[in-house]
Amino acid sequence: MNHRRNGILRDEELNRHLPPPARLAAGPVVVIECVENIPCNPCVQACPRDAIIIEGDINNTPTVDYDRCNGCGLCISACPGLAIFVVDAGRTDGVGVVVLPYEYLPLPAKSEIVSAIDREGNIVCDALVVRVADSKAFDRTPLVSIEVPQEYVMIVRHFRCKGGRD
Ligand code: SF4
Ligand code: SF4
Repeated sequence: MNHRRNGILRDEELNRHLPPPARLAAGPVVVIECVENIPCNPCVQACPRDAIIIEGDINNTPTVDYDRCNGCGLCISACPGLAIFVVDAGRTDGVGVVVLPYEYLPLPAKSEIVSAIDREGNIVCDALVVRVADSKAFDRTPLVSIEVPQEYVMIVRHFRCKGGRD
């Protein structure tokens, strides 16, 4: 069953996919926002720590053993649905990091300021690009890491380059 409303996750659905607060506070960890019951499992195969599990039918959505996940991000590019993120809410300076797949060109540059946006496309805040990983290790889907205020790590899920680039 599709739990989305107009393609946007409902709060109650999203809450089932959140790492426990203690794990979130412990540092980088995966967040999988996959709610479609479709035959898909490359995320399971991509994780070297066997942290992603699809029990039973391949149409089931994945669950995560958060104690196994170290936030490496290898699973992000494996997901054709762009439904996987890594968030870091473990820093003590109030800054959080969101690592997300980014399929637009041109890529942003490290140290560029971009507009962080939420699941509904609303601008949330400015964000600093701290890493752009564009290598074959990531199956050619670049990963971009952006810094945002820590309270926004579970809100920001995309960004838009300033000056008209998406
Ligand atoms: S971030 Fe790394 S360790 Fe965590 S689920 Fe993804 S591939 Fe596995
Ligand atoms: S690869 Fe992505 S879409 Fe497929 S099951 Fe995993 S999280 Fe869901």
